[in-house]
Amino acid sequence: MKNIICALGRFQPKIFLIMGAVLLLNGCSSVPPAPTRGFLLKNAAQLRGIEMDYDQLTGRVVLQRAGQKAHAFIGNNRAWIGEEEVLLTEPLYQSGHDIIVPDDFKEKVLNRMSGFVYGQQSHDRLVVVIDPGHGGKDPGARGRSGLKEKDVVLDIAKRLHRKLKKEGWDVHLTRDKDVFISLEQRTEKASELRADLYVSIHANASETPRVNGFEVWTVRPLESQDRKEPQRRRNHDIFFKRVEMEQNNSKLERVVDDLMYAYKRGESSVLAEQVTREVPKDLKLENRGARDSGFFVLRNTLCPAILVEVAFMSNAKEERLLKSEDFRQQVAESLSRAIVRYVNAL
Ligand SMILES: [Zn+2]
Repeated sequence: MKNIICALGRFQPKIFLIMGAVLLLNGCSSVPPAPTRGFLLKNAAQLRGIEMDYDQLTGRVVLQRAGQKAHAFIGNNRAWIGEEEVLLTEPLYQSGHDIIVPDDFKEKVLNRMSGFVYGQQSHDRLVVVIDPGHGGKDPGARGRSGLKEKDVVLDIAKRLHRKLKKEGWDVHLTRDKDVFISLEQRTEKASELRADLYVSIHANASETPRVNGFEVWTVRPLESQDRKEPQRRRNHDIFFKRVEMEQNNSKLERVVDDLMYAYKRGESSVLAEQVTREVPKDLKLENRGARDSGFFVLRNTLCPAILVEVAFMSNAKEERLLKSEDFRQQVAESLSRAIVRYVNAL
C-alpha cells in the first residue's frame, strides 16, 4: 500500500481516500429544534446504495455499506463513521416517519461511505467529457424527414460544451465533427483526461411512433462478465498509468476497482435523478425517468456517467422539436443547469 501512496503525484488525494476506505473495510437526546435546512436521509442513502436502519426506541440511525458502518442519533449533531466522530452543523431531526439530516451530512458522511469523494482527482478544474453519440458512417436513429441522430446530438453537445465551459470547467467533446469514433475510443478519451464526469447525448427511437419522452440511463451493478471486459482493463491501465500498484496484488486492485465502481454508480444515480427531475419539466417532455443499463460507454468509463436520450426521432412531434435550433438550445441550457446544480451540491 505504501508503494501506491508514494508513487502518486497528483492523484494523491483521491487514492488516499480510496485507501482510507480500504482500511475501513478491515471497524441522548433532548427535544431538538427543527433544522433550518436539510434533506430526507432515506432517499439520499438509497441513491448511494447505503442501507439504513432506525431504532425508534433509542433514536439511533445506523448506515451500512460494503462493510462500512456509520451511526447518528435523532436530536444530536454528531455522527460516527466507524470510530471517527464527525460534527454536523445541525442535529438530525424526525418528521413523521422521515429522518431529516443537515445539508453537510451528505459530504461528511454519505459521500465518504459511497467510496471516495467526488472531484478529488487533483485537477485544478473539474473535467467533464461530453460524448455526442454515433457519427460518420454511423448515423444513429433517423427521423421520417431524414433527420439524423448523429447531427442532432452533435449540435446539442456543442451547445452544452459552450454552456459548461462558462463555469470555468475543463470541458471536452469526444467528437466535434461528423466522424466515426468507436465506443472504445470514447471511453479511453475519458480515462486519458481523467474525467470527473461523462455525459453521453443521444436521441431515442421506437418502432411505435407515438412513444415519446426524455430518459436517462445510468450504469447497472458490476457483473462478473464486466470484470473480464478488456476495455475496462485498458481504461484502468490508462487511468492508473502513473500509479505503481504493488506487483500482482490482485486482491487490492479488486478492492480499489469495487470502490471506484460503487462510487461511480452512486454518483451517476444522483446526477441522473437531478437531470430527470429538472430537464423534462423545463422542456415540457414526458419524463420516462432514470434507469440502469449495460451500455458500453456507461460500463467502461471509470467516472460517474450518464446517457441522456433527449427525445424520440421516431415521434413526429418530437422530431420537429429536435429539428429546431431553439429546442436544442433549451436542451443544452436545461442539461447544463441540472449538471451545475449536481456539482454544486457535492
Ligand atoms: Zn443513439
